[in-house]
Amino acid sequence: MKPPNFTYAKPKSLSDALELLADENQDAMPLAGGQSLMPMLNFRLAAPDTLVDLNGVEELCGIRVDGTHVRIGAMARYAELGASELVAEHLPLFSMALPHIAHAAVRNRGTIGGSVALADPAAEMPALLLALDASIRVLGSSGLRTIAADDFFEGLYETALETGELITEISVPMRGAQDRFGFYELARRHGDYAMMGVAIAAAGSTAIDNCRIAFFGIGDKAVRATGAETALRGRSVADALDDAKMALADLPMAGDLNASEATKRHLSGVVLERALRDLT
Ligand code: FAD
Repeated sequence: MKPPNFTYAKPKSLSDALELLADENQDAMPLAGGQSLMPMLNFRLAAPDTLVDLNGVEELCGIRVDGTHVRIGAMARYAELGASELVAEHLPLFSMALPHIAHAAVRNRGTIGGSVALADPAAEMPALLLALDASIRVLGSSGLRTIAADDFFEGLYETALETGELITEISVPMRGAQDRFGFYELARRHGDYAMMGVAIAAAGSTAIDNCRIAFFGIGDKAVRATGAETALRGRSVADALDDAKMALADLPMAGDLNASEATKRHLSGVVLERALRDLT
């Protein structure tokens, strides 16, 4: 199919982009890497009056360290994140997960901002941001808001973003000396969307002082497994593993084209165990 007609605008600044998106007479949508939006247009799942192409907005680019956080511009592409020394040094969980996101051609274009705004329930990035306690900076006509990842992902392709707002940056805490990370994903073929996966950030060298565990591909959005987090607190993985797996019973889980709910429940324990045993 071909997309419906739309007006195309390519602003050179963030303020121009926001002005175009704020125009109440236009149903305008931002275009980032286009890896999801272009198919959505072609299938006529989206039909905006105007596409506001963010690819000329320099203010949305770049990856930098700011104190204890890595700040990633919304237009940073997966390939750029994968090649970044800052990311490799300070965000090892990103380095573990990035090779699982789609294929090289998609990673060359797809952006972190696009993935976070889309909030696909099977996408890796929302789960990474939940596990890492990241925050999302958004800008709109009512000003700048910083939203914790815990509050950002609201449901199936639903986020806390309001009409006319843009994600400008993702702020991710840098790894601490005692931090360890785990990531495990099940997919039918490497690079396909996940059937299910889990991302873990844990503090503590032997016993786990604290951890954040986020699943994706289990229901309508990425979710934290807070019961399993509690079960692991103050204990070693070997001691707490069975209790952590039992605590997954409180996770909202839905069957989909990949597997029934019962199979998914079983698989959640499998991926949790593998990611916990691989904590590095
Ligand atoms: P776009 O497609 O340009 O935009 C997506 C949505 O976000 C649109 O609604 C757009 O308006 C909005 N948006 C974009 N930027 C902003 C912003 N800064 N502020 C507010 N709204 C914004 N993804 C995975 O996570 N895992 C996978 O395994 C995976 N496999 C894929 C396989 C294939 C074959 C393809 C084509 C895609 C796959 N994807 C996968 C999706 C890919 O990661 C997309 O790149 C991503 O979901 C969207 O990023 P994008 O930059 O392409 O955004």
